[in-house]
Amino acid sequence: MATIPERHADNAFVLPAATVAGATIRAQNAQACSPVCNAASGETIGWQEHASEAMVDRAVHAARDALVAWRHSTPGARGKLLRKIAELLEADRARIAAMQMRVSGKPPFEADLDVSDAIATFDYYADLCENTALFAAETITVPDKTVLAQRTHEPVGVAALIVPWNFPMVTTAWKLAPALAAGCTVVLKPSEFTSPTEHMLVDIVSEAGVPDGVVNVVNGGGEVGAWLTAHPLVDKISFTGSTASGRKVMQAAALDMKRVTLELGGKSALVVRQDADVAHAVALAVSGAFTNAGQMCSATGRILVHDDLYRKFMAAFETAVRALVVAPPQGENVAMGPLISAAQHARVQSLVAQGVEEGAQVAFAGTLDAACKAGFFMAPLVVAEPASDNLLWREEIFGPVACVKSFRSDDEAISLANDTRYGLVATVVTQDANAARRYKAQLRAGLVWVNTPQLIFPQVCWGGLGLSGTGRELGIAGLRSYQELRHTVEARA
Ligand code: NAD
Repeated sequence: MATIPERHADNAFVLPAATVAGATIRAQNAQACSPVCNAASGETIGWQEHASEAMVDRAVHAARDALVAWRHSTPGARGKLLRKIAELLEADRARIAAMQMRVSGKPPFEADLDVSDAIATFDYYADLCENTALFAAETITVPDKTVLAQRTHEPVGVAALIVPWNFPMVTTAWKLAPALAAGCTVVLKPSEFTSPTEHMLVDIVSEAGVPDGVVNVVNGGGEVGAWLTAHPLVDKISFTGSTASGRKVMQAAALDMKRVTLELGGKSALVVRQDADVAHAVALAVSGAFTNAGQMCSATGRILVHDDLYRKFMAAFETAVRALVVAPPQGENVAMGPLISAAQHARVQSLVAQGVEEGAQVAFAGTLDAACKAGFFMAPLVVAEPASDNLLWREEIFGPVACVKSFRSDDEAISLANDTRYGLVATVVTQDANAARRYKAQLRAGLVWVNTPQLIFPQVCWGGLGLSGTGRELGIAGLRSYQELRHTVEARA
């Protein structure tokens, strides 16, 4: 944290602390704020003011005040607004993607993916809003003809949406679109590292015609998030972030029995069977481990390869990793950008050093482009055959580090893949349909991919087992997570 310097670079922006009921709230001069960096250059390009506890309180009250009118609007009317948001995002996608690149240093295809997935999410929940059956009272058959039993799905109330920095647009969309579709009002807390695009999204929400007070924003770090999760007028918390923070969120929620959805960390496996196509397996390993510089909750940082293929796989994997262009987004054919911050860079380097000290062997690493003179770049790195208790095999790294281990049987592969307290995703590469069935059934993960890259559709739910969190986002379950199930039983006239 820092205070805004009196003199800052002419082109540095200073983003407001909060947006409450349509009004921009600026921090007091002396109030804490934090720099927004360009991860590819390390430069400070702006400042994010932090909200105070009083501002969080105002934001929650604004959401509460807007709730009655919003929850009684029709799903169809809400759907039209969601569709409008999707259209406005589409119209502005180049500018938003450019800001993503400027802040996170993401390569163009990754920056655009974050925006296009957000658009698809708003469109999907706009579609659901047109499905009146999803919002109507349902009659339940009971063994008593003298009564009418019904169930309804009603908005939970005020939802606190807390998001991390790795895919800021899409993570926010996964929460905001279903919350609004359900009839909830919200207070959003973006990550202070990547808030510029969230400010753009909030402007778009307002431009689309969403009434003031329905979407409020408070900016800042964990302290601001903690004030929000502890606020007694918040009914539901949807949190994406680390497992450590998720625990604190769950504890804060316990006091008022707030509803919680937690999308947390992972340590996911990719299993390459003996019948796999090696080139395909390598392509999936590269994208699974190194997309977004490995800063993915779903990163497949534990790669299990059948002994028969191990040498061939490692040779092809090495060629592919060495060929990855790691560079600022303006470069040519850039495949991988930087880590988000100096602190994240130091954290990942330190985890690698600890893992090596514990005995892990680095098999090979990629290289940095000459243009990576500054910024928070790290070359992709592959560890071979770490011990099962090595920290690099067990802990979420959230950086471009993959571990490869060999196995000799499906039993062993499944047992190694499941030997983690996380359970977000898993991938299996095989041409054997029976084996695929077995892996789908036995890999302990919220989502299992067979022979595909990490395809994510708004129709398919996202969320993990164990330490990867609780609840599901996306799909109809994502909508239902912002609704309370209620029942009525009445005597028939
Ligand atoms: P983080 O937990 O440090 O922060 C996430 C968000 O929570 C930020 O907005 C932060 O300000 C806020 N926060 C921090 N402490 C809080 C508290 N006590 N109460 C309320 N809010 C608090 O995580 P991060 O470093 O920003 O993101 C990386 C983590 O997020 C990784 O562990 C990654 O696996 C996880 N993640 C999970 C998913 C998923 O869908 N499962 C997706 C993306 C990221």
